[in-house]
Amino acid sequence: MRNQYQDKLARLRESFPDPSRADKRLVPYFEQALAAAQKQKNNSPIVGTYEPIDYDAACHARITAKGISKEAIVALLAGYCEGSVIPSHPLTQRNIVSPATIPSLLGGLYTGLYDPNLCWDEYSQRFALAEVEVAAMVADLVGYQSQHSGGLFTFGGVGTVFYGVKVGLEKAAPNTTTKGVQGQVAVLAGEGSHYCRYIVCNWLGIGIDNLTIVPADDDFSMNKEQLRQQLTTCLRAGKRVACIIATVGTTDSFGLDDLAQIAAVRDEVCAEFHLPYKIHIHADAVIGWAWAMFNDYDFKDNPLSLPMLQELQQASARVCQLQHADSLGIDFHKTGFTPYVSSMVLFKRKQDLQTLVRPQKQAPYLFQFGDYRPGMLTMEGTRAGNGVLAALANLKLFGKDGFRVLLAHLVAMAQTFRQELLATGKAAIINPACVGSVTLFRLYPDRMTPDFAAELTQSERLLTINHYNWQLFDQLHTEAMTGNAPVLSSVDACMHSDHNDPVLALKAFIISPFTDTQAVKATVAKIMAIKAKVDAMPATKDLLCSQDW
Ligand SMILES: *Cc1c(COP(=O)(O)O)cnc(C)c1O
Repeated sequence: MRNQYQDKLARLRESFPDPSRADKRLVPYFEQALAAAQKQKNNSPIVGTYEPIDYDAACHARITAKGISKEAIVALLAGYCEGSVIPSHPLTQRNIVSPATIPSLLGGLYTGLYDPNLCWDEYSQRFALAEVEVAAMVADLVGYQSQHSGGLFTFGGVGTVFYGVKVGLEKAAPNTTTKGVQGQVAVLAGEGSHYCRYIVCNWLGIGIDNLTIVPADDDFSMNKEQLRQQLTTCLRAGKRVACIIATVGTTDSFGLDDLAQIAAVRDEVCAEFHLPYKIHIHADAVIGWAWAMFNDYDFKDNPLSLPMLQELQQASARVCQLQHADSLGIDFHKTGFTPYVSSMVLFKRKQDLQTLVRPQKQAPYLFQFGDYRPGMLTMEGTRAGNGVLAALANLKLFGKDGFRVLLAHLVAMAQTFRQELLATGKAAIINPACVGSVTLFRLYPDRMTPDFAAELTQSERLLTINHYNWQLFDQLHTEAMTGNAPVLSSVDACMHSDHNDPVLALKAFIISPFTDTQAVKATVAKIMAIKAKVDAMPATKDLLCSQDW
């Protein structure tokens, strides 16, 4: 007679993949899960139905004494997918969330089965090989020498910026590892750089007050003269400059910093002040890196018959300068078509990372042997392998040509979107000089002629149109969540006016390979239909009646 304990243990074992029998026993559960996902698809960008979440009720969740079946768990988990947005849907244009390829999903499956930990090759075995290979491929792609460079996967694009600034900090103010940050340290970042500049300066103990924002030009790239001035001001004040954060592909506008110029300014200023260290340049290329696939494309003969040659070449002219950065960040989950999280920081010189190495005795149960022990310097303890495998899968799956075709398509669709929008006569593009796949735009009431330049000098006009666009977005978003409209997003302050007022813009980020001309036209048509509704609202009439533009 088996007792409860033995009975339950036997059944619990069935919840795990059998250590020696075929993992095919997993298949029915995957099939059940995928069938459930299939049922939740309804041609709209929304999975199942979107409903407001009762967080108060969620606070009363409890663990029950008895568990439930695996089948019941599958159904339960499927329920948590309801209301999600399908990244590959042609009308999903919300943000830089790329749909994941089928092979990249297998990265999650295999790492789930074996749980490699990239801290040390004792725990990661050949997954470590994949990390080194991906780092080498990307190094070669961007123009680093792969035998001298070093790359690590980390916890997201924010993590990559952490690494860049931390290493720069150690160069500018040595021994922060042991003594903490001493004296005043500065970090410079472009106006369009990601908000993680605040996180990084905060959590590294540099302090947000020591972050200097360098104004941007009309193309949303860092102004070179302003950079020189701000650098000089910081150094004159006796600060040590830990890092210049350049951005290659800003999040909202696809601004591309000119790294050759930034490096030249850095070199001149370092020489002028006889600095005992070289100011570190980190290129936050989490979005723009993929355009490096065009570094060696033959634009003249265009063997792939790509559309948008001029736009691609224009972006490529900036992205091909990534080699001037001392380190750079890459998000495969942004423009590499992998699932979250797949981010790599890459250092031009791997010895830059040596400053971060900790004594082995700090982790006495690890690192006693082996050839690959990145865990001795990483911020993380455990580093999962799924991002690495997913990145490798897509680099191999697409090759350069695959990326080229996908990017050309996204850019072509973004350009079509802009043309369709402008053809309505009721819109302005805020980032016309940026030739990626993201568009920032504003719409105008029927009785008004769009004149964005005028708004930049007239506070009241700008703020009124901000409000109008917010109302429009609110309507659009409400309809989108019911599955009846494209899913876009809005940015409260994509730039600032001459009076330092925030400019609100709607944002369409085209990132699905399934988005085609028809989807783009449907998107613009829906936006205009919602605009007509907003124009007819009494509140809009009130808003505008006192104005005479
Ligand atoms: C998205 C983004 C980040 C942050 O990356 P996560 O992967 O979200 O952590 C950093 N920089 C830029 C330019 C980004 O677009």
